[in-house]
Amino acid sequence: MSVLIVAEHNQEVLNPAVYSLAAAALKIDSSFDVLVMAADGKKVAEEASKLTGVRKVLLSESAEFQNLLPQTISTQVLTTSSEYTYFLFVANPFGKAAAPRVAAKLDVAQFSEVIGIVDPKTFKRPIYAGSLISTVKALDDKVVLTIRATAFDPVGKEGNGAIEVVEPVKAPTNIKFLQKNRVENDRPDLQNAKIVIAGGRGLVDEAEFEEMAQLADQLGGAIGTTRAVVDAGIAPNDWQIGQTGKIIAPDLYIGLGISGAIQHIAGIKDAKVIVAVNKDPEAPIFEVADYGLVADAMQTIRELKEKLK
Ligand SMILES: Cc1cc2nc3c(=O)[nH]c(=O)nc-3n(C[C@H](O)[C@H](O)[C@H](O)COP(=O)(O)OP(=O)(O)OC[C@H]3O[C@@H](n4cnc5c(N)ncnc54)[C@H](O)[C@@H]3O)c2cc1C
Repeated sequence: MSVLIVAEHNQEVLNPAVYSLAAAALKIDSSFDVLVMAADGKKVAEEASKLTGVRKVLLSESAEFQNLLPQTISTQVLTTSSEYTYFLFVANPFGKAAAPRVAAKLDVAQFSEVIGIVDPKTFKRPIYAGSLISTVKALDDKVVLTIRATAFDPVGKEGNGAIEVVEPVKAPTNIKFLQKNRVENDRPDLQNAKIVIAGGRGLVDEAEFEEMAQLADQLGGAIGTTRAVVDAGIAPNDWQIGQTGKIIAPDLYIGLGISGAIQHIAGIKDAKVIVAVNKDPEAPIFEVADYGLVADAMQTIRELKEKLK
């Protein structure tokens, strides 16, 4: 049994989700290897070599890896690392694009959004927007998994893995990377934030969201919202939490004027503490909330802002 984590990074540091993948890997085997593909990947490889439980880091460097395409990732994995039994990817756009290519070429099933590892061949994953958890068994020799990072507590940095350089492989692709549009802001990243303040349709316009953002800043939190608000054009889609948005697991989530539709709850149920503010006492969000306040969202925001001054 051998486990390979395909590392996501920004050429400088690992995506924090990789630490959670390492925890998942250690539920499969006593150690794992990490593949780092980067333009200049020494720094990232060194960070990966410290992951608790790591045995070896495979470092593949090429100018073409400045912006990783799924075709490039899967070609490298299949050419230089196909002897592994397990291939772990983050369950995000990076992993979701690359993992199926690896699984298809290996002619094995892929297990997506894994949230639990019962034994090395048995996995738990949510279905029906998280309403049910299915337990599935792998029958193939090789196993490709995308792991939901929020479901596994990250490992530490007590590792001391060797770094091995592997030949970069050029992908036979006619797809060209054109550009990357990054949303830059000083707030914590929604998926890694300890505190998330989210507003729903109970907030009516950009000005009210701006007031909510000020509260988030006072608390050092990230901002989230619902699909209804994104669809209304009031907030950008990178704020969206839920089944078709981001899955989050902060220590504290505060939902203001959010009804608690199943698709939104799918994104917040791993939060340690859920606080809901809604003027309707029957709002479904109160069924999953640890603390509920039947109140006007904006009044609550303004009072909290005042108290936190
Ligand atoms: C395939 C599919 C995928 C989806 N994916 C997602 C997803 O990823 N994320 C997501 O969020 N949604 C998703 N949705 C949409 C989802 O079903 C809901 O429509 C959406 O979450 C509702 O957003 P909301 O709570 O902001 O709005 P509403 O459901 O309209 O709720 C607004 C709430 O605000 C309360 N309220 C109103 N005024 C105030 C006030 N002054 N003070 C306090 N409370 C007030 C109301 O009582 C109500 O409960 C998806 C839907 C589908 C069909």
